[in-house]
Amino acid sequence: TPVLTVRDLVVEARRPDGAPLRILDGVGFDVAAGQTLGVVGESGSGKTMTATAVLGLLPPGVSVTSGGIRFADRELVGLRESQRRELRGKGIAMVFQDPLAALNPVQPVGQQIGEIARRRDGLSRAAAGRLAVDLLERVGVPDPAGRARAYPHQLSGGLRQRAVIAMALAGQPRLILADEPTTALDVSVQGRILALLTKIQAEDGVSVLLISHDLRVMSHAAQQVAVMYAGKVVERGATREVLHRPRHPYTAALVRSVPAVHSRSAPVAPIPGNPPRLAALPTGCRFHPRCPLAVERCRVEEPVAREVGPGRVAACHRAEEVLP
Ligand code: SF4
Repeated sequence: TPVLTVRDLVVEARRPDGAPLRILDGVGFDVAAGQTLGVVGESGSGKTMTATAVLGLLPPGVSVTSGGIRFADRELVGLRESQRRELRGKGIAMVFQDPLAALNPVQPVGQQIGEIARRRDGLSRAAAGRLAVDLLERVGVPDPAGRARAYPHQLSGGLRQRAVIAMALAGQPRLILADEPTTALDVSVQGRILALLTKIQAEDGVSVLLISHDLRVMSHAAQQVAVMYAGKVVERGATREVLHRPRHPYTAALVRSVPAVHSRSAPVAPIPGNPPRLAALPTGCRFHPRCPLAVERCRVEEPVAREVGPGRVAACHRAEEVLP
């Protein structure tokens, strides 16, 4: 059962001349209960904008113009800001790239975690303090009672991100939205934070929407993946299937560009060219100027997303011809 369903989502901004600029074009996916859906793509593909739309935090001048976002049987598009604020931190918790930005620099982390629990359950100050220590212990912070009294700047980057995850858990969310949660951390810490998210998901049955540019992150942490390119989802399905048998040339190119995902024996191949500017999209398939399989049809006819296997969707005229 999906906890989050995004359907045909269109997000637009206004250009200086007043004409609409489409940033997301018909984005759709489900996040199943107790599962992680990864959204992956190059920068500018629309993955962070998708997360921002789910949270109702689109920047001024940018809005959802059609489509829907359904969370726990509730339509989010059109909710008032006060209703959205209630959802954020309770139903939906956030873990962002920079833990410092999520933490109050002048308040001990234990208090910050406890305040979320107090808002949710009306706990006493002492009970919230004990819960904060328990949560810090649960997310693997050593000396949790001591660290609860520390200010954010006194913790390492990895411990700060663990504290942010503890804050997320304090709201007992059904969905954790994690946007590049390991990108700013040392490589040695990244794997441990991903393992922590996976453990929490398994223990609490919480769903995770994981945004990352890194396919290796997806291969470790996401059961399902949606691949985005130039504001569209071009392929989705079970992560293992998508990475081992891509059905879209862009996914295949992404896989070939990453050493740890690609076969160790074959050479790594960067994707030629750059993603298009949204204000100057190519005709037909948006990927055609970079696609090794492009034919004349691709230059004139935009491919629609279609089923290409059990639980697999790809938007490509030649999906059946993409080599593993
Ligand atoms: Fe390549 Fe054509 Fe498929 Fe686009 S539709 S990804 S250009 S083969």
